[in-house]
Amino acid sequence: MDDSRRVVVVGSGPAGAMAALSLLRSGIPVTLMESGGRFPGGQLARVADRTVYRRGPRLADHLNPVASDDPASTWVQVLQPGGLSNYWSGAVPRFEPDDFREGERLHERYRWPLSYDDLVPYYERVERVLGVVGGGAPAPGSSAQVLARSVALPDDWRPAAARARSLGQAFGPLPVAAGSAWTVAARSRPFNSFRLVQGLRRYPHFELLLGAHVLGLEWRSDRGAVTGVLYHDRAAGCERRLAVAAVVAAAGALSTTKLLLDSACADFPQGLGDTEGLLGRYLHEHVHGWSILRVEPAMTRLAHLAHLTRRPVGDSSPLIAASCTVGPTSNLDRARSLLPGRSRSTGFGVNVFGTMVPRAGNRVRPHPTLRDEFGRPLAAVHLEYDAEERRNALTAGEGLVQVLESAGIAGGARWRPPEVLVGSSIHYGGTVRMHRSPRHGMADGWGRLHAVPNVAIADASGFTTGPEKNPTLTAMALAARAAERLAGDLKALPDGCRR
Ligand SMILES: Cc1cc2nc3c(=O)[nH]c(=O)nc-3n(C[C@H](O)[C@H](O)[C@H](O)COP(=O)(O)OP(=O)(O)OC[C@H]3O[C@@H](n4cnc5c(N)ncnc54)[C@H](O)[C@@H]3O)c2cc1C
Repeated sequence: MDDSRRVVVVGSGPAGAMAALSLLRSGIPVTLMESGGRFPGGQLARVADRTVYRRGPRLADHLNPVASDDPASTWVQVLQPGGLSNYWSGAVPRFEPDDFREGERLHERYRWPLSYDDLVPYYERVERVLGVVGGGAPAPGSSAQVLARSVALPDDWRPAAARARSLGQAFGPLPVAAGSAWTVAARSRPFNSFRLVQGLRRYPHFELLLGAHVLGLEWRSDRGAVTGVLYHDRAAGCERRLAVAAVVAAAGALSTTKLLLDSACADFPQGLGDTEGLLGRYLHEHVHGWSILRVEPAMTRLAHLAHLTRRPVGDSSPLIAASCTVGPTSNLDRARSLLPGRSRSTGFGVNVFGTMVPRAGNRVRPHPTLRDEFGRPLAAVHLEYDAEERRNALTAGEGLVQVLESAGIAGGARWRPPEVLVGSSIHYGGTVRMHRSPRHGMADGWGRLHAVPNVAIADASGFTTGPEKNPTLTAMALAARAAERLAGDLKALPDGCRR
């Protein structure tokens, strides 16, 4: 393989898979390094666009340790081919135009260095890869998602869509990465990023290294660039080095942050590329809760998830928003939605995702004493929500009840506020945030570290803020955009990205 332009992509989750695909399509050789050794597989059967059977690894059996000062919190990361796409639900709404600029009402540090329009071509590209099934009208100012197939709300739910619209919100089918309508497959989710990675083997300049845990990125101050990747080869049980022209970090928000912290050197004693003490700070995740909504009279079971979008930006405090996803309460409930005559229910499961304002004090840093399996410091996490953020998430379900009742349906709806568990949304981001100014963010608008431009951040650690939408579609679109820009950099310079 041509070393002068070789890019190492770290991680085979959704972000890494999308970055690798984009680099290869741009003619750049890629080595994808994945810490996990074996794809966990699974079983999946989909019939007429409904998942009727799925079985996969148990998340609790595969957690990679993260230290937290809050014993009640839960933090999730795995070291497996396919990453968290072995477990995800596949909800893929786009961010909206306001999501990239509304934080500026609070402070310029919350303005993204790119706009919704900048991301649209990449959203479209990723949506084609994911095979999205959804429906409903796009939010004001947004364009319609590229759908493989569309679905509609059941008739008795439709008045809620009209009512939500009159309030400046939307209620409709949630966009979901559904792949083929009919499938029998050896994986547990319709879209698993490792399947995309396996498909990359058709590119002659693609190399996949499984069991390759990246330990650090090697900075050369005379070249002003990273020139090598140090990794642990699990099969051989030894450390190795690979020369690189550039690196795409897509190890998931917590692991990417840890990788940069572990890559500290004389020029960057606080972590690679950290010139302003920002690395690991501004950690955000969704204030998350799950609860059951009781409705009277019974309503049609939802074979496809529905969601109520946030209230209009102007009606909320800056960066405070919440969405509610409505669906079956259990797998049995999901199966029942297929049966004629058993299609009505008085109970629906509701997932609430509330936002938080990213604050410097919420952070990931190296644990002073605990070590990972390679003797490096464990990632230590500190995160707390303020009272308004908790209240916003806890009361979001009441907004859903009001929409349903004022639409003249679900007259006697009852809602028990959920319990909020820190870390449980598994939508972590912000710790290597993008910002036009290096004072407010480590990465630029293309995900390249300001201080180390041949390292691009491709996962949600680059998010400037954390809107209430599920993050993976946007992380993948950013990954595709970052990869394309990196490919351009490599082609433009006679010596790749090296200065
Ligand atoms: C139960 C569940 C449901 C979810 N549902 C949704 C949903 O509906 N919609 C949504 O948007 N999101 C959802 N998510 C979150 C979603 O799965 C993540 O946002 C997404 O997987 C992140 O992608 P990623 O590629 O950035 O990271 P990951 O998926 O975490 O992948 C990171 C990869 O990097 C590898 N890696 C890590 N460190 C190293 C290293 N040092 N060297 C080499 N390799 C390394 C890991 O093994 C892994 O393969 C859900 C998550 C869970 C657990």
